[in-house]
Amino acid sequence: MEQDKAKEIIDRNGRRHRFPPALNLDYVLKEGRVQTRSLEAHIVDHCNLSCAECCSLSPLLPKWFASPEELQRDLAIASSFLAPTVFKLVGGEPLLHPQIATMAKIAAESAIAPRISLTTNGLMLGQMEDDLWRYLDAITISLYPKPELPESLIAQAEEQAAHFSVELNWKDQSQFVVMNRNSRRADESETSAIFNRCWLRERCHMIRNGTFYTCTRSPHMQTLGGSDGSFSEDGYSLTSPEASADGMLTYLRREHALEACAYCHGGDAKMAPHRLLPRSELRQLKGRSALRRDGIARPVVRKA
Ligand code: SF4
Ligand code: SF4
Repeated sequence: MEQDKAKEIIDRNGRRHRFPPALNLDYVLKEGRVQTRSLEAHIVDHCNLSCAECCSLSPLLPKWFASPEELQRDLAIASSFLAPTVFKLVGGEPLLHPQIATMAKIAAESAIAPRISLTTNGLMLGQMEDDLWRYLDAITISLYPKPELPESLIAQAEEQAAHFSVELNWKDQSQFVVMNRNSRRADESETSAIFNRCWLRERCHMIRNGTFYTCTRSPHMQTLGGSDGSFSEDGYSLTSPEASADGMLTYLRREHALEACAYCHGGDAKMAPHRLLPRSELRQLKGRSALRRDGIARPVVRKA
């Protein structure tokens, strides 16, 4: 029913996209690895912007970087089970990583995917060393109404991309999906229905610390406040002795909703104009206690 509302979007590169995209759970197992669309590692949790409704909850998360060793370990283990078409370095803002070129090199030299991409708000792109461009196949740059990227920076990025044969994808982010809920949804069957039609569960696969997640929301909600670990149970541990490609397939096709879905509107979320959180609102949201039932920090609210 929700799929009928899909619209066609033409991006800055003239490419056509369907939004929201269709959900496709027809995963194929080939040579012992599950073929998937993409895999992300969020190598920085924080960001230099504070967008309201940030899907990664970055404005609320503490400063954090993945180490090169951690990324290397995660990619080595993930490549035993998964064969994504593209691997993405994501954040937060990944260009805040002090060793971003090393992280890109590790990804490029791993066996994880034939294509390495980076997703950024682009603000720091002009400061990046050539090495970063050398190790990437593509960069997706989110374009927000505010702050607008200077034309000079866009021109510089296009020049660098042409020089290093990197594909640039410009992504209009003037509208955001309002995914966070005010409180934990009590109706388990509704949560389950939302999960089972949510396109993000197929397109937002993430690895962190040896665990694979079908949706990036769970590990970020865990960082935000799930001290009892229930959001991390949303993932599939690749370091467990029981881990297998068949187990991964079963996990990817599961019908049982994630704990994170109880705090999320998923693919049913409404759209709202992009806005940056004013400092006072951000301070207020950050200051809220884990047990308060209001604000974006609501994923920390445990089951009643
Ligand atoms: S730029 Fe991206 S990661 Fe940063 S706050 Fe905005 S949506 Fe979140
Ligand atoms: S409903 Fe939310 S938490 Fe659940 S899979 Fe979709 S986006 Fe992720």
